[in-house]
Amino acid sequence: MAPAREYAMRVAIVGGGVAGALLALRTVLAPRAARGEQVHPRSPRRAGGPQGEQGARDSAADDRHAHRVLPGRADGGVVAPAREYAMRVAIVGGGVAGALLALRTARAPGGARVDLFTARSPRREDASGVSGGLVRGFETSTDACRTAAESLAEIRSSDTLLDWTGYRETGSLYVLSGGSGTDGPAEVVDAYLPGSAEVIGRDTVIRDFPFRTLPADAVAVVERYAGHISPHRLRTAALEEAVSLGVTVRPAPVDAVTRDPAVRTADGGTVRYDRVVVAAGAWTPHLLDRSGLPVAGLRTKQIQYSLCETPLSGLGSFVDECSGLYGRPYGDGTFLLGLPSDRWDVDPDTVAPDVPLERRVTECARRVFGVAVTAGRTVASCDCYHDPAGLVLRRVGPGLHTFTGGSGGAAKTVLSASRTAATALLA
Ligand SMILES: Cc1cc2nc3c(=O)[nH]c(=O)nc-3n(C[C@H](O)[C@H](O)[C@H](O)COP(=O)(O)OP(=O)(O)OC[C@H]3O[C@@H](n4cnc5c(N)ncnc54)[C@H](O)[C@@H]3O)c2cc1C
Repeated sequence: MAPAREYAMRVAIVGGGVAGALLALRTVLAPRAARGEQVHPRSPRRAGGPQGEQGARDSAADDRHAHRVLPGRADGGVVAPAREYAMRVAIVGGGVAGALLALRTARAPGGARVDLFTARSPRREDASGVSGGLVRGFETSTDACRTAAESLAEIRSSDTLLDWTGYRETGSLYVLSGGSGTDGPAEVVDAYLPGSAEVIGRDTVIRDFPFRTLPADAVAVVERYAGHISPHRLRTAALEEAVSLGVTVRPAPVDAVTRDPAVRTADGGTVRYDRVVVAAGAWTPHLLDRSGLPVAGLRTKQIQYSLCETPLSGLGSFVDECSGLYGRPYGDGTFLLGLPSDRWDVDPDTVAPDVPLERRVTECARRVFGVAVTAGRTVASCDCYHDPAGLVLRRVGPGLHTFTGGSGGAAKTVLSASRTAATALLA
């Protein structure tokens, strides 16, 4: 029997072709041999995103396959390679933002040892659990548009992310009054999702979509490649994958974060880290305040939608800035419909439906579409807002950050935003 070998290094080779096979052989035969594992991609990728660049980058889906093990290994299962970590990172919050950041951080070159703290029994469902999940590339700001379009292109280009997100492609319509400023963002969408976006005039909207009335100066951006996802499903899959990569999920609500930086849990334990990130969504401002840290412009705001019975058809995901109405198909004869709330600084643990707002939604939808609309279940929750809006890593102190502030839109940007944040965190 050959003696067991000690290896200086472990190497994964992605690609099952001749080049990959030869590289694996050469690697094993090298003077200071590494343990070579040749990994076969599961399926070809679909097009999406600025080509070439997208394919070479850290994809939540593709990276997953790099940790699959060759057939014939004794353990036969999925293993996370033993790693030496340069950094210890704590992430507070197991919503879609915390889960994706944990996964991206664990995957980043050099990696980090990640502890993810989750509230053991949240009294309410979090934003990721109730999110409408509308995803599109178009946003009125070019920066927001880039993150949204990049995230959507990543989903559409990966079989694994299509599965993780439960993506449904219904198309999207974004109606604006005034019509200025659509060209720049529409070009960004086209760069990531070629052939998806088209700017159309008011009369075309009225002809092709079930809008009964619109202001004379209205224009719209129609997107073919857009629809909705389940942020909860994405968070669950990302957490599972993160755990398989060595991330430790600690079901221990965090009482406070300190400037060390450190995390103090509700049971009184304090653990120091190199980086602490508060990704606790709408709970973030209160947690920072309770910790004696600056809230730094973060606020909470209610978000509410109703699942309405209506014969409305011929419409996918939509936002109508003229009336404020937004929504998407929810099921047979049911549409998710909402209007922006004006309830700021709500407590995420006690948020309750705003009944007059629910009534305004049905009235507005009847007026805009000229169809019967009856509100069924109303979902009231809240999210963390920031001006300017965006799910980004914000520094609170040395080694201490927040990752929130998506302002009601982080489901559509989280894939791109978490990649950028993980890189910045480990820099
Ligand atoms: C009703 C609604 C509809 C929406 N619709 C859309 C949409 O159509 N498209 C779109 O792009 N976006 C939408 N959003 C926004 C998007 O869903 C959110 O921005 C996103 O889910 C926020 O994720 P998060 O991880 O930051 O926060 P959350 O999902 O709220 O997660 C925060 C987590 O932190 C945990 N936590 C809190 N305090 C602590 C503590 N002390 N210790 C440990 N853990 C803690 C909580 O239990 C929670 O699990 C919607 C949001 C809402 C509320």
